[in-house]
Amino acid sequence: MAEELTVTHRNKRLGNGFTKIPHVVILGAGASKAAFPNGTPGGLNFPLMEDLVEVVGLAELLESSGTNYQGENFEVVFSRVAGDPQKVRLKRKLEEQIFEYFSRMQLPPELTIYDKLILSLRDKDVIATFNWDPLLLYAYRRCGNYFQSKHFGISMPQILFLHGNVALGVCVDDSTLGPMDSTCSKCQRRFKRVPLLYPILKKDYILDPVIKEQWDRLRYHMANAYFATIFGYGAPVADIEAVRLMKEVWDRNPRRELAEIEIIDIASHDTLKTRWERFIVREHYRTCVSIERSYSFQHPRRSVESFFDCFLQNSPWPENPMPDCRSFEEMANWLAPLLVEENRCLAASS
Ligand SMILES: [Zn+2]
Repeated sequence: MAEELTVTHRNKRLGNGFTKIPHVVILGAGASKAAFPNGTPGGLNFPLMEDLVEVVGLAELLESSGTNYQGENFEVVFSRVAGDPQKVRLKRKLEEQIFEYFSRMQLPPELTIYDKLILSLRDKDVIATFNWDPLLLYAYRRCGNYFQSKHFGISMPQILFLHGNVALGVCVDDSTLGPMDSTCSKCQRRFKRVPLLYPILKKDYILDPVIKEQWDRLRYHMANAYFATIFGYGAPVADIEAVRLMKEVWDRNPRRELAEIEIIDIASHDTLKTRWERFIVREHYRTCVSIERSYSFQHPRRSVESFFDCFLQNSPWPENPMPDCRSFEEMANWLAPLLVEENRCLAASS
């Protein structure tokens, strides 16, 4: 008997050959700002480079050392400080204060955009963030803990930290990474901080082994991705090397001719097209102003499969948008049929 494809069935299915092809999501400062538009509990706001001095409260430090900063982007100010051998102490103090500011951030109890983004992807997918704030990592941990507490297996995307992260710890001896407040699974010792990469023009992405590993993994996935989402990342001047590293592997991607670039940003369509045109092939791109309209929120956990069917098989799937809910329980109930199908496929293939 021919299999009848009901709407629900089609939105669940796996197995059109693109089941292992990654969806890569890149997050910049605008993503955290969009995820927490009113700041974090406790009233901490997310700075952009334009207002970082003011938001993090660095003015006093800069003024006391006679450093000009008024009207300048923090990238410019910090690059100047970092290049001045007389200001080594100031540079260290600025770094400490930035680290301390982001370390104080906490998640609100309800589901956030970061929780939903994590739950909208699977373990073949990647979320790579340029942000120092800990909230993506905290969201990742609590999503995993929630499903574990319900004894429900869930495949989760890989999370990468391209400029380091205040909540990420490392055990150098065992080459393990984990949240700063936990311990190494091999030697049980507390993790040590990973370095943060600050905004200077010549950032070195291979000097530190942790950062290098994060980049190696991003580059591997970008060279194989079929869908790339850039959320709130403006490719600032100080990230010229980061953009070059991504472009280099994107050009090698055998699927690049067909792959889609999705840009989520409040800037105009034309600005975004110009900003990312080196990555875009013909008209294979889309823009939207909010993550809720993004492809993975419309086709959660099946973005690559549904995109493949739509554009290569001319057989579009009906949208299956994530519910606009704020409770983990409600979201877990909604996701359950998708997870059941994934676990069934996993069991069948093992
Ligand atoms: Zn260890």
